[in-house]
Amino acid sequence: MADMIPLCVPDLRGNEARYLQDCVDSTFVSSVGPFVTQFEEAVAKAIDAKAVTAVSSGTTGLHLALTTLGVERDDLVVLPSLTFIASANAIAHCGASPWLMDVSYDSWGLDPASFRKALEIQTERRGSDVFHKASNRRVKAVMPVYVLGQPADMDPIVETAREFGLAVVADAAAALGATYKGRSVGALGADLTVISFNGNKTVTAGGGGAVGGQDEAVVALARHLGTTARSDTGYDHDRVGYNYRMTNLQAAVGCAQMERVDDLVARKRAISGRYREALMGVPGIGFFPDPAWAVGACWFSGITLGENRHPAAADVVDQLRTKGIDGRTFWKPIHLQTPYLSAPAEATPVCEAVWRNILTLPCSAGLSDADQDRVVDALKEILCQ
Ligand SMILES: *Cc1c(COP(=O)(O)O)cnc(C)c1O
Repeated sequence: MADMIPLCVPDLRGNEARYLQDCVDSTFVSSVGPFVTQFEEAVAKAIDAKAVTAVSSGTTGLHLALTTLGVERDDLVVLPSLTFIASANAIAHCGASPWLMDVSYDSWGLDPASFRKALEIQTERRGSDVFHKASNRRVKAVMPVYVLGQPADMDPIVETAREFGLAVVADAAAALGATYKGRSVGALGADLTVISFNGNKTVTAGGGGAVGGQDEAVVALARHLGTTARSDTGYDHDRVGYNYRMTNLQAAVGCAQMERVDDLVARKRAISGRYREALMGVPGIGFFPDPAWAVGACWFSGITLGENRHPAAADVVDQLRTKGIDGRTFWKPIHLQTPYLSAPAEATPVCEAVWRNILTLPCSAGLSDADQDRVVDALKEILCQ
């Protein structure tokens, strides 16, 4: 349909084309090039990390972060079930398995109380390691996820992780621009924090990721492992490494986008606020979490539908489509996904209560007020009929 309003498309109206042309003119198109370093510095500043290494995607960034922090074959990594499949895949790429847990209503992030209780009851210490008793597997790390760009309640999560000696990798894929208790997402206590620059994220590099941390030596190790673990300028390699570097072409787009990061995030928040205002009166609907202790990045906008009160989210998506609007249902939880059906899992009642009722709505940074009004009118028509 010609006038279909898309869910989320990038806004490339800054210096993107000019910087790409610079790459072509200079022939620096690969992972050696000035834009990569410049991009890493811009991201480090934006998330308040001491150091950042740019990588090829959020997924490879998560895998690299876990590997850097010592996650190995057969380990367990605690993961909230309400996340994009990439979080679980990155754990599986280490030969490890997610240990799936529930989220809390107030942020849709890992529930700190369930996390603590599961560790207290189901694990035991053996030397310096913690083991999951039922599966006899080492629990090496926890991966909190900042769902839709909304930080998880990190203070209690980090406190529990430290007590049990777990490494913390934050999946902050869509959370660039968010804060938690006034702190930026790179400074919330995780050992490593991973951002995605995929095409549909608030800031894009076409594809790409960044791994940031407060300990420069840890980020340096991630950089080393992500660049074939080369130990000198020749062909000596000291570990099994990966080719995960971001290219200068990606970083060129990323740099142009980072120049506008504040504006892009502000637009996302404005769109989300405008939906909230316009749809507030529709009976039975709810909005995405907005806890007092965080300012979310509002990567996606949308609503939650009242069960038994509205058509199912999938039906609303179909009806929106006939009106030229691209709305979507949301991530099916990991414990229901074929590759992870046998992963250790705790009860996930909150996860199950919310995921089916989530409806995401068009929220491109470049969305016009007129198009947004069209979405609101269409939605009211569908939900109030
Ligand atoms: C986007 C996203 C990813 C994946 O990032 P890619 O760059 O697409 O690999 C991982 N986790 C979450 C929570 C995401 O939103």
